[in-house]
Amino acid sequence: MKVEMKNVLDKIKAYNTIILFRHFRPDGDAVGSTKGFAELLRASFPEKKVYLQNADFSDYLAFLGGEEQPLPDEVYAGALGIVLDTATEDRISNKRYTLCKELIKIDHHIPVKQYGVLQWVEEERSSTCEMVAAFYQAFKDELVLTKEAATYIYTGMVTDSGRFRFRDVSGETMRLAGMLLDSGVDLDTVYANLYMKEFDTFKFEAYVHKKMKITKNGVAYVVVTKAMKKKFKLSNEQASACVSCMDSIKNSLVWAAFIQNDDGSIRVRLRSRFVTVNELAEKYNGGGHACACGATVYSKKQMHALIQDADTLLKNYKENNTGWL
Ligand code: AMP
Repeated sequence: MKVEMKNVLDKIKAYNTIILFRHFRPDGDAVGSTKGFAELLRASFPEKKVYLQNADFSDYLAFLGGEEQPLPDEVYAGALGIVLDTATEDRISNKRYTLCKELIKIDHHIPVKQYGVLQWVEEERSSTCEMVAAFYQAFKDELVLTKEAATYIYTGMVTDSGRFRFRDVSGETMRLAGMLLDSGVDLDTVYANLYMKEFDTFKFEAYVHKKMKITKNGVAYVVVTKAMKKKFKLSNEQASACVSCMDSIKNSLVWAAFIQNDDGSIRVRLRSRFVTVNELAEKYNGGGHACACGATVYSKKQMHALIQDADTLLKNYKENNTGWL
């Protein structure tokens, strides 16, 4: 067991009030890990006050339950803040986290800039939810895992690992997922909520398949403009999901979706297999994991520069490696 895990538990025991935070534009892992950890702590330490405080939410994950009412500043003042699934401070959704007495970071992203009095970071984990499951496993004599907590945690593990497909999935991932299933997760309901799509979304995906382009060396990409979002009645969240339309094109080891934000900036969702792309994302105001990153560009010129850099990266990769598909 990692010493950081024990340090996290000791800190939790030392506080009566705990507030959990996640990154903005939350995904399944951000929502699942915070809700799962909150439920784990509530069931295990009923005498403590445990809150979730976030400034934005995800429609897609609304089936896991709603958000909590904002708390007054006084509650933050004596609280332990725990930030899950968030690599850097500037990505924390609720900026009032600074009011907490102390802050802990629990995360599986490549650490770019650390924060908090205590960090438990395991970048080889497939999700932060996997870390929460491991936390329960390590201290199961002292903790209580409810069916609700198992469902939140399982949801984050499924979504962040691409349904247990990505390379950071390990035997340990599967053993922990098995433990959660044994706690009563209703797979039918979780998968139906996660993967059923609206009719309009299928139409949009057909459009994306038609519009996507590929560079000389195999970088697939698509641009989603504000006009396209309007035409297909898409939220930013629905529009950005199109990155997965390009995830299984042979020889295209790097792919990206460029989604125009309302303020004109362009959100980049960058994905890859075999090739490491996080340094490319970091060059364009982003970061993330070796094969799944986010970034932001502010003009078409910058977007094309990123595509060109991705193409060069892929060219070099293909020239120097074998066995890729
Ligand atoms: P996304 O395409 O937004 O789903 O991001 C893929 C992964 O990269 C997620 O784990 C995000 O948390 C992370 N990520 C996205 N944008 C950034 C960023 N600007 N800086 C650091 N990590 C990011």
